[in-house]
Amino acid sequence: MGKTISIIGSGFSALSASCYLAQAGHDVSIYEKNGTVGGRARQLEKDGFVFDIGPSWYWMPDIFEKFFNDFGKSTSDYYQLDKLSPAYKIFFSDEVITIGDHMDQICEEFERIESGSSKPLRKFISQAQEHYDIAINKVVLKPGISPFELVTKETVTRVDRFFKTISSEVRKNFKNPKLISTLEFPVLFLGAKPSQTPSFYSFMNFADFGLGTWHPKGGMYEIIKAMKALAESLGVRINTDCNVEMINVENGKASGIIANGENIKSDVVLSGADYHHSETLLDQKYRQYSEAYWEKRTFAPSSLLFYVGFDKKLKDIEHHNLFFDTNFETHAENIYDDPQWPENPLFYVNFPSVTDKTMAPDGCETGFFLIPIAPGLEDTPELREQYFDIIISRFENLTNQKVQSNILFKESFCVNDFVSEYNSYKGNAYGMANTLMQTAFLRPKLKSKKVDSLYFTGQLTVPGPGVPPSLISGKLVAELINKKEK
Ligand SMILES: Cc1cc2nc3c(=O)[nH]c(=O)nc-3n(C[C@H](O)[C@H](O)[C@H](O)COP(=O)(O)OP(=O)(O)OC[C@H]3O[C@@H](n4cnc5c(N)ncnc54)[C@H](O)[C@@H]3O)c2cc1C
Repeated sequence: MGKTISIIGSGFSALSASCYLAQAGHDVSIYEKNGTVGGRARQLEKDGFVFDIGPSWYWMPDIFEKFFNDFGKSTSDYYQLDKLSPAYKIFFSDEVITIGDHMDQICEEFERIESGSSKPLRKFISQAQEHYDIAINKVVLKPGISPFELVTKETVTRVDRFFKTISSEVRKNFKNPKLISTLEFPVLFLGAKPSQTPSFYSFMNFADFGLGTWHPKGGMYEIIKAMKALAESLGVRINTDCNVEMINVENGKASGIIANGENIKSDVVLSGADYHHSETLLDQKYRQYSEAYWEKRTFAPSSLLFYVGFDKKLKDIEHHNLFFDTNFETHAENIYDDPQWPENPLFYVNFPSVTDKTMAPDGCETGFFLIPIAPGLEDTPELREQYFDIIISRFENLTNQKVQSNILFKESFCVNDFVSEYNSYKGNAYGMANTLMQTAFLRPKLKSKKVDSLYFTGQLTVPGPGVPPSLISGKLVAELINKKEK
């Protein structure tokens, strides 16, 4: 028989779970503190400029497709997906590397930088594809309950790849520092340094070079709109501006929530808010993980973000642009080893209006600037300004154009906003990193060990950070609820 289920939050994982649970016949309601759904993936619209506030890289299109297929739908029922060509550009201090939309082009670019490098590249990507097939079809679809989930015929024969790092694997095959940075970039999405990330995670390189970079016309928020429409069509009730203040527990079992002061009863509670925050909604005795536990985890970075409207079209840029003209190692140390504001940050900029006219007024450009920083850093208006000045000057020099006098407006978002908008632990942007010791069954659990009928989903639990993993997380927790809550 269907249960009543209260879901906290409306990010990708919560929306995904809500669809699977409603499809299974449960009576599902979402309670979201903000005025719009989507969590970290909300949208900012200003004077005809459209910004995705959070995620902008659409990778692993197969996972999005599988999600909608599970409901007899396709992505194309909801949005138009275009493959970006080129996928992106990387600016180094003395050179630009352009990543094309298929392997032959990418190999040519590698050969231009380092003669003979296309051969090891093809081998590396072919192994990355093998990892992708194992990870996506075998490993990632497990709920992270037992270590034995990781033991498959395929993983046992490749166990060394969990203990070698992506960094050592890349350096074994490539000598040119620019190619090394190019190949280490994709695993940054997993939230840790490449030297802390198992080489098995090279499946991200296959996602990058093998599957390509895509763009939903209108921006990433189109996916959220699609999932909201799907959820509502399945009967999910979505309540926005509805802050959850407490998870109620009776006789060791979750019995509902208090939202905007109102007591709401349900058979099951599922939280898609940041795991750490979700546990603070419980009395101390019901929390599974101590403050010391969270303190010891490796968190993915926070970010300083700028959403900028330009009154002209910019030149020599692509939809996605990485600025790797400073030392990657030093910046990484400032994020993970010795948390502080980086002196010479690497940064990333996207201009969705380069390929999608709907995202800026005619003759204008929508610009999103991102500097990854350590979570928990001091965040002041002065620091934000100081860093904007640094990166906009570097942007002008590296792209050979003046743009500062063409800025119509600029909004920023940083650590304090991540905390106030999303109740994010230390203002993290991308959740908890996927290191060897924070993989699968070693991550915070989908089901509470202390409170019956209480579950968690999202980027701090399995499988990890990113939009595709969040979609999978929602599916995994829904399957677990269906199994456990008879
Ligand atoms: C700047 C940035 C760039 C990124 N870039 C990419 C990218 O390019 N590609 C990619 O794949 N991933 C990217 N990511 C990661 C991706 O966005 C996240 O992994 C994903 O959106 C996380 O979804 P979630 O379901 O875990 O939670 P969230 O999106 O964090 O949703 C949690 C929700 O819970 C709500 N909530 C919190 N507390 C309460 C409460 N007490 N009551 C009610 N509601 C509450 C919050 O308001 C929020 O809506 C990026 C993230 C950021 C921030």
